[in-house]
Formats: sequence, structure tokens, C-alpha cells
Amino acid sequence: MDNNSIPKAITRPKPYLLTVEYADGIKATILLSKLREECPCAVCKGEEIMGVRYTFGIQVMKPGMNELEALIPTGNYAIQARWKDGHDSGIYTWEQLKTIMQNNALSENELKALEN
Ligand SMILES: [Zn+2]
Repeated sequence: MDNNSIPKAITRPKPYLLTVEYADGIKATILLSKLREECPCAVCKGEEIMGVRYTFGIQVMKPGMNELEALIPTGNYAIQARWKDGHDSGIYTWEQLKTIMQNNALSENELKALEN
């Protein structure tokens, strides 16, 4: 496993923001709604069965769906997100989390705009 994918620190500077810092100096902040959007579980992302991707149900806006209740480390390879709407089947490997962080990282200006 790539050790640079293991977070050094995970913080929530605002109720809707997630910041992750890595040992290689990378630090990224994303909207929690992005983390939810990228939920890797079978319900959200579908499941591949015999090479065909199946999705179950339609993603609908639910109250609390983008509010994070807890991040629970799973073994030493992943983190499980529990959302306020009760959804907790999303387990993000360190690699998946880092990819999400880097692809959705907010710029300084975007962060400033959110403050106002
Ligand atoms: Zn999910």
C-alpha cells in the first residue's frame, strides 16, 4: 500500500467542510457533499456483477444526507462514513479518499467565498 495515502490528520473546519492532511505535504479541503456524492457503496455507486454495473434505487435528496455524523476507521486501510440520514455503508479506502480529496479540492478563493 502507498503510505502517502494514509491521512496524517482529518479535520472538519466547518460543518460542511472536510480537510485531510498527508505526510507528503498534500492538504486538501472539500465540501462534505462531494464526499457523499462519491460514496463508493453498492447502493450509491452500483455493483459490478459479471462485468455489468447495476445501480439500486435512485439518489434522492434527503435531509441530513450531506451532514457527516462520524468517520470511523475500518481496519488500517479505510474509513467508514456515517451520515445524518442514517446512510453508513460507504467505506472509503485511503486511496479512494485521497483521489476524492485531490479531485475536489477547493481553492483558497473558493474557501474565502464560502466564508461570506
Ligand atoms: Zn452509499
